[in-house]
Amino acid sequence: MKAEIIAVGTELLLGQIVNTNAQFIAQECANNGIHVHYQTVVGDNPERIRAAVEIARGRADVILFTGGLGPTQDDLTKDVLAGMLGRELKVHEPSMDKIRELFSSRGAHMVESNIRQAHWIEGSDPLENETGLAVGNALTADGTHYVLLPGPPKEMKPMFLHQALPWLRGLLGEAVPLHSKMLKFAGIGESDLENRLIDLIEAQTDPTIAPYAKEGEVSIRVTTRAGSKEEAEEKMAAVVAEIYSRLGKHIYADEDIPIETAIVRIMSGKGLTLAMAESCTGGLLGDLITANPGSADAFRGGIISYSNEFKHKLLNVPQEFLEGDGCPGAVSEPTAAAMAEGIRSFADSDYALSITGVAGPGPSEGKPEGLVYIGLAQRGRETVVERLQLAGNRESVKLKAAKRALFLLWS
Ligand code: ATP
Ligand code: MG
Repeated sequence: MKAEIIAVGTELLLGQIVNTNAQFIAQECANNGIHVHYQTVVGDNPERIRAAVEIARGRADVILFTGGLGPTQDDLTKDVLAGMLGRELKVHEPSMDKIRELFSSRGAHMVESNIRQAHWIEGSDPLENETGLAVGNALTADGTHYVLLPGPPKEMKPMFLHQALPWLRGLLGEAVPLHSKMLKFAGIGESDLENRLIDLIEAQTDPTIAPYAKEGEVSIRVTTRAGSKEEAEEKMAAVVAEIYSRLGKHIYADEDIPIETAIVRIMSGKGLTLAMAESCTGGLLGDLITANPGSADAFRGGIISYSNEFKHKLLNVPQEFLEGDGCPGAVSEPTAAAMAEGIRSFADSDYALSITGVAGPGPSEGKPEGLVYIGLAQRGRETVVERLQLAGNRESVKLKAAKRALFLLWS
């Protein structure tokens, strides 16, 4: 099934808001076997919306609209489409009741234009709006399927997932639902990951294997059609086992969680503690860890030792590492090791991480941008330091460095 997304809204055209709805819908379509071939953005203008629909129905089986279902005069999606299909707009009574109730509960006066939010195109299936007022629509006319979703993401997402997707699946005649499993990787790049699974990815039919990359994180979604969760697990077992046998040491979770969550869970479960000393990441590592509720059980604290003075005075990094001719410097293996050991002995924690590097732009201490050392000090075991040469801008070097440090701790 070929799909086109039409995002309606002049704000999108002017670049005042980012088209995150198209991103969400496209990703969900991809996960559900609906092939998005085109994405269009059009302003709140009836002629141009009409022209966009004209083009879209010549090349797509399903057109997914987002935006323009609201009460105001610039919310035109339903009007334009009803006009094009020669159908009438009617008032969807259950939605109208909801609107009336909301206004009366707030003691507010309902205006004529609020009725527009309860409009539905004659002969369509209403899509309930769980978090707002404007009712969505789904219909088929002359072989083309149309799905109308609201603009606000908090209304669009639940409507898409709970109403539109089941409707679309019904069209696909797919009574058999999709099940998927997420495998999360750390310490490996997306292209490396793909290369090492390329034969599996190319041979895929059912289950399918799709790699994804976000900043500092890589994952694989294995998807299959099956009548039950147990049957799905069984169908996916062989390919999942194969992925584990090739790349198991990089897999930190088989659900969609970031590595810091996996670490906090394990450490709190085992009663282990962590501390950290950060230089170039400026507290990012601590932020990632403390984003997890319950991190207090494992996380003792950290120091942002950005200057050499802090590294020396607070962490006991020897002065001769940091200053003088031929010293290793702040961005070096011995400094990373001393930072990790310094914070670990202060915190008396089981583990301590350190990060020191050149976030860029440009070199520092004569060392290239992206050069990062991460250290791991461990109670009763030798300190390890890893040297990384990371690519990307300042923000992305910082994030990748923090994620790699977490992976060092993980493995
Ligand atoms: P409303 O009832 O709020 O008017 P609507 O369905 O008419 O909803 P729009 O008026 O097109 O939708 O957009 C309302 C708001 O939703 C926008 O101001 C914007 O914040 C958000 N929005 C709209 N379209 C998108 C999009 N494609 N991606 C992300 N956000 C969007
Ligand atoms: Mg609107």
